[in-house]
Amino acid sequence: MMVRLNQLRGNLVYLLIATSICLFCAAEARRSTLAKNKGKVCKSEKCRSVAKRIANNMDPNENPCEDFYNYACGGWIKRHEIPKGKDEYSAIVELSERNDKRLKHLLKLQSSTDTITIKKLKDFYKSCLNTKIVDSRAEKPLTEFIKKLGSWDMFSDFDVEKWDFNKTLQLFHKEYPAEIFFTVDVDVDPKNRTMNIVTIDQAKLCLPQIVYYVNKEAKRELGKYAAAIAQHTGVPYKRAMKKMKEVVMFETKLAKISVPKKAKKYARTPIRSLIGAIPTFPWLEHIRYVLSPRNITEKDYIVVLCNEYLADLIQLINSTPKRILSNYMMWRMVKDMVPFLSKDFTDAYKSFKEKLTGKGQRKTREETCYRYTDEILGPLVGGLFIRREFTVEDKKEVEEMMQLIIKAFEKNSESVPWISNQTIIAVKQKADAAVVKVGYPDYLFNDTVFNERYEEIEIHPEKFFENVVSIDKFSNRRTFRKLDQPVDPHQWVSVPHMANAFYVVTKNEIVIPAGILQPPFFYGEPIPRSVSYGAVGHVLGHELTHGFDTLGRKFNLYGELIQRRTKWSDPSIANFENRTQCLVNQFNDYKIGKDLHIDGKNTLGENIADGGGLKIAFEAYETWVREHGEEYTLPDLDLTNEQLFFVGYAQKECHNSTHQALVDSIKEDVHAPSMFRIIGTLSNTEAFSKAFKCKLGAPMNPEKKCHVW
Ligand SMILES: [Zn+2]
Repeated sequence: MMVRLNQLRGNLVYLLIATSICLFCAAEARRSTLAKNKGKVCKSEKCRSVAKRIANNMDPNENPCEDFYNYACGGWIKRHEIPKGKDEYSAIVELSERNDKRLKHLLKLQSSTDTITIKKLKDFYKSCLNTKIVDSRAEKPLTEFIKKLGSWDMFSDFDVEKWDFNKTLQLFHKEYPAEIFFTVDVDVDPKNRTMNIVTIDQAKLCLPQIVYYVNKEAKRELGKYAAAIAQHTGVPYKRAMKKMKEVVMFETKLAKISVPKKAKKYARTPIRSLIGAIPTFPWLEHIRYVLSPRNITEKDYIVVLCNEYLADLIQLINSTPKRILSNYMMWRMVKDMVPFLSKDFTDAYKSFKEKLTGKGQRKTREETCYRYTDEILGPLVGGLFIRREFTVEDKKEVEEMMQLIIKAFEKNSESVPWISNQTIIAVKQKADAAVVKVGYPDYLFNDTVFNERYEEIEIHPEKFFENVVSIDKFSNRRTFRKLDQPVDPHQWVSVPHMANAFYVVTKNEIVIPAGILQPPFFYGEPIPRSVSYGAVGHVLGHELTHGFDTLGRKFNLYGELIQRRTKWSDPSIANFENRTQCLVNQFNDYKIGKDLHIDGKNTLGENIADGGGLKIAFEAYETWVREHGEEYTLPDLDLTNEQLFFVGYAQKECHNSTHQALVDSIKEDVHAPSMFRIIGTLSNTEAFSKAFKCKLGAPMNPEKKCHVW
């Protein structure tokens, strides 16, 4: 698929800080209701139901000082089977599925309070669900699309003499996020990270990786698939097969000159240097057209892929017949649009995908449409989610929590025994400078800004294909308008409804989307805050601590990689390394079965973040209690709030895996399996042993403990 509105979806399980917003008003109001709750139990229905859920997830027969993971998660593990076709299931996946389910329901719901943009979103979803109309329109939207773009040699009425290569490529690059030969993009300027710059890069190929082009079978399947799609637009079988064979042969030549991702090198250079290096392509004219109305000159700087690729590419293009070029270029446009057509097309698409990646479970239309909507209109889906599933109060509450956690981190940095005064100053400055984004970007919640931002998108409830085209064009225009503009500080690395959290090491930024600010990570009133501080509080602390782990410490307060000039003193760096070795050894000792050991080194960054995060989240909770008074506890659980804090911490991590998934995760994942994250971190935490009165020497309270932060 092309580069769409939301190209930022990741697959990270919470990774890596904050503006200071003072929320005294909210805090004051609560103080009066909560201050006199010491020893009291919350009896409300909501408290009862949350307490019941917590109890069901626990295994009451397990001793918390022996194996806290099974104590907190034993019930959850028993009740949650791994779904068919999957090899693991976890509390965070359960939350993610619940968010998806809510959204599918909300997308279908027509409401009189919907803003124009939310209406567009719902109409888009509707246009996808209505297969009756999609199927009745058959190939028509596609053939119209092809003709508007200047047609191709696949059609018998095509006049190759009238077709202009340069003009066609200019049009495709200007109007669509087209991956053809090379891409023209506007992205962050590496020399000045606050500004944007034009970037020229190698385009992707049809098959997922360069190596596929030495696989005859994969290429044959690609040719057959491309021909089948052309046939569905009315091209006779023989003609389609012959011409698509040429297309695949041409793409094989492209694959031969392509540079693997890891070997790519970039240069920041004026356009005239690119013209000087490769004079056989009209670079200035091309970039000028694509970026018009902005006037581009030879003196303008661009970032360009500086391997041999572009020179080889232009040579290849200049030695290829125009009819093949026309077919290749249009096929690349068509290929991206196939999923949005009638059943004939989507069936061919699905079976080609299955041949490449193996047979998975086929999705229902509802699921497929939800995925497309999420992928193509992610921020709008987020806009809907925050209006229905999140509140401004929740956002404020978490921002307050984050401030207490940053303060706790700074205070803690003064008391860790291995750190010099000079280093403390550097650490505090960085924690202070961290940018914290909670819930959603503000523009999504402000109806006026939200509507203005997506005004140009045209959505028709019965024209699914054209809707995608409209969004694609809008997405491209928006990208190009970024040129000469400062990098948008409100840009998020994630959509708001994502159940995940991030530390962006290159920006010193913590992002906590609304999607993770749901049970069992976060509970609003009247649930005691102990549970949320243990769960999402730990996530916040974890992300903050990433700024000070083995990788994060090499970046300064602006997120710039400056290696040894981070103002840390040499003795502090040496002590830090020493302390981390303790954690490496501790996790190296954990194993699955007889001899499958956890990789302490590979998981070190995450284990540092877990340990530091838990310590400061607990300290932040203690500060909150000091400022607001004791909270009431949950009913029927017989757990103090300190204990609830640790149960909340562990229960957000409950996880079920097949043995094979565990084996794979040990090889590939930078996170240790959940049971070791919980056991390893808690057995280093004094406050935990105190809360559960674990004797020194008990499995969860060993004499030797590892502390970095
Ligand atoms: Zn992490």
